[in-house]
Amino acid sequence: MNFIMTSQVKNNIFNFCLKQYPKEACGLLLGNISKDNIRCTFSINSKNMAKNPYKFFDIDVRNIFKAELFSRNNNISLLGHFHSHPDSPSGDIPSKHDIKNISNLKYHWIIVSIQNKMIKSVSAFTPHNIQNSKLNDFKKINLVIENQTEKYE
Ligand SMILES: [Zn+2]
Repeated sequence: MNFIMTSQVKNNIFNFCLKQYPKEACGLLLGNISKDNIRCTFSINSKNMAKNPYKFFDIDVRNIFKAELFSRNNNISLLGHFHSHPDSPSGDIPSKHDIKNISNLKYHWIIVSIQNKMIKSVSAFTPHNIQNSKLNDFKKINLVIENQTEKYE
């Protein structure tokens, strides 16, 4: 399973994450799901509603409605969301808080690590339920950026 992102979406996400720095940035991801791939062709930036936006993120529910409407009108799917980790020891790995806050197992997560105002790395994750438990966890999935010239791990 690959999570494919157009370079346009990548640029939008990276620019928005840098603009929101040192706060966490967040937003929604839209596109198409096929048997082998998820292809993200649109992203919607959101206001971060968290009480402490320097450490956490909370997507504005108005943007979730906007994304749901946009997906219905354009016959695409809401794939999940992105958020940034500015100068975080977690890097581009989900934090304990992220794992605790998995609310929808269908949504994929993109995490952008920023260190010293520069994009360090970006990764894609899909949540799953740990067998025989009520706990959830993330599995890293392959992230492919179309027409990518620079390299981010
Ligand atoms: Zn996080």
